[in-house]
Amino acid sequence: MTRRQKKTLWRIVAAALLTLVAALLPLEGIGKALAFAVPYLVIGYDVLWSAARNIAHGQVFDEKFLMALATLGAFGTGEYPEAAAVMLFYQIGEWFQSIAVGRSRKSIAALMDIRPEFATVLRDGEESEVDPEEVALGETILIRPGERVPLDGTVLEGSSSLDTAALTGESLPVDVTEGARVISGSINLTGLLRVRTESVYQDSTVARILELVENSAEKKARVENYITRFARWYTPCVVIGAVLLALIPPLFDGNWAMWINRALIFLVVSCPCALVVSVPLSFFGGIGAASREGILVKGANYLEALATVDTVAFDKTGTLTQGEFAVDAIHPREIPEDELLDIAAVAESHSSHPVAESIVAAHKGHIDKSRVSKVEELAGRGIRAVVDGQTFYVGNGKLMEEVGADYHDCHLSGTVIHVAKEAEYLGHIVINDQLKPDAKESIAALKALGVKQTVMLTGDRQQVAENAARALGVDRVYAQLLPAEKVEKVEQMLRDGARLAFVGDGINDAPVLSRADVGVAMGAMGSDAAIESADIVLMDDKPSRLPLAVKLARKTMRIVRENIVFALGVKLLILALGALGFANMWWAVFGDVGVLILAILNAMRCMLPIRN
Ligand code: ADP
Ligand code: MG
Repeated sequence: MTRRQKKTLWRIVAAALLTLVAALLPLEGIGKALAFAVPYLVIGYDVLWSAARNIAHGQVFDEKFLMALATLGAFGTGEYPEAAAVMLFYQIGEWFQSIAVGRSRKSIAALMDIRPEFATVLRDGEESEVDPEEVALGETILIRPGERVPLDGTVLEGSSSLDTAALTGESLPVDVTEGARVISGSINLTGLLRVRTESVYQDSTVARILELVENSAEKKARVENYITRFARWYTPCVVIGAVLLALIPPLFDGNWAMWINRALIFLVVSCPCALVVSVPLSFFGGIGAASREGILVKGANYLEALATVDTVAFDKTGTLTQGEFAVDAIHPREIPEDELLDIAAVAESHSSHPVAESIVAAHKGHIDKSRVSKVEELAGRGIRAVVDGQTFYVGNGKLMEEVGADYHDCHLSGTVIHVAKEAEYLGHIVINDQLKPDAKESIAALKALGVKQTVMLTGDRQQVAENAARALGVDRVYAQLLPAEKVEKVEQMLRDGARLAFVGDGINDAPVLSRADVGVAMGAMGSDAAIESADIVLMDDKPSRLPLAVKLARKTMRIVRENIVFALGVKLLILALGALGFANMWWAVFGDVGVLILAILNAMRCMLPIRN
């Protein structure tokens, strides 16, 4: 609790006791009014004061002003206990709200408690503890067991296991040894690591995740904007209703006190705070719960969109498959096998495409990157590289057609990577990928959640794509697509009315990620493109996080809807009953503060994790 919250709590306790005393004293008339005025002023002086100031600024529909007017009105018509109680409960509501909002803010910060405090940097053989922001690229840092990895980097020496749970939601530790990448924000569990930094703090995974989560509050859901607009006319309408109720009926029956009392009920119920507070709180909680599972949501609007998605399109390589190809066969035309692999590996040595990385990994010898003088990635097709002064093309059949190489397909199943020197065909390498272990269950889980259609969009061969789709239970496959054609397919589906999420690995599918209603990127661990262009980032590469994200989104939306229906329902009911004389000020207190507290408690359920 902050100091202010503590002070308010004491005032609440004091005012509650004083109200009790006033109620027990056998007083009548002016004595009773004075007895209740004491707790009223103890708890309400600041409300009265800021109401007065607000009138000076012309803010008449401010909730403080309305509370002041309602309670002063109640005093004026002899409802002293009610006046004190309304003010007391109003402050209880405010107090509760500030605790709840503060707590959820803090809990997101705690959930994302991944900010490294310091880095131990090795400079001229000396160790020194510095702020992670002061470490430059390429410096050597030491990370002891139990410490948080301050910056992204590569292990120079040592081996250990890392706890990445706070980043990915994955509870199994990851083993690292020399040459492995370590991600900032994870915790070093067992061994001392010496690491060469590969990013400055601002560009590190941890800094970017924190920025992303912190900015997520800015992107409001449609219902949030709707509630804000609604609140803007709800309050004036109810207040005008109150004025009419206080002025018109008594012209006919002359019972001014009774109608003013009924009108005061309107003023108390006119505050839309239950909605204005609980709806953003729900989204905040939902985003927090998701980030605890390694699902980063960049804004409430994406959570909202995800809840109603009916079509999910997947990229294949690296998304549904592991993107780690094994080389199954090397079929050169004239040259020896190892020469073909050598050319391919050298040409691919600058590329980060999964195909390229696999071919490089299959090359056992040393790869001299400096043999490459010029490279150009041809998205969805392959690569053009000048190796030893000669131009080579490495890629799929489409690329061979473009350069006019006389290629032929392979009888083996798998992804076929052709190699050509200018237009001269040199042969091909057959590689095969494996499906991710949870890919199939993810597709099934999405179907079970009522997703109408799952689609695979891939640049790979038709046959490979169909095999994968069949094994996974994906409904539709579009193969041999260039990145631009993936965008076209997605646009086609959007035109057909699909509410579409696209899931990709961030490697040359940025345009599709941004075109879909919700762009979901896999494997943000280190992939810059993914973090930038996606709306939702799945921190570990697991497709099974997606159905979980959908569930969390739907739960959040359900709670938001519950709160809207509940809060408006109760308020409208009390307005109606109040106008007819069936509800008194105590009902109004419930309609204001009771509803606020219940709505906040309900909204806080969004923060809870869901288990299947
Ligand atoms: P996906 O849609 O399955 O993620 P991409 O669009 O990234 O695949 O690539 C489509 C195809 O283009 C790959 O299957 C491969 O045949 C070829 N390709 C793309 N990049 C490269 C590369 N760097 N080297 C060789 N082939 C490549
Ligand atoms: Mg891909």
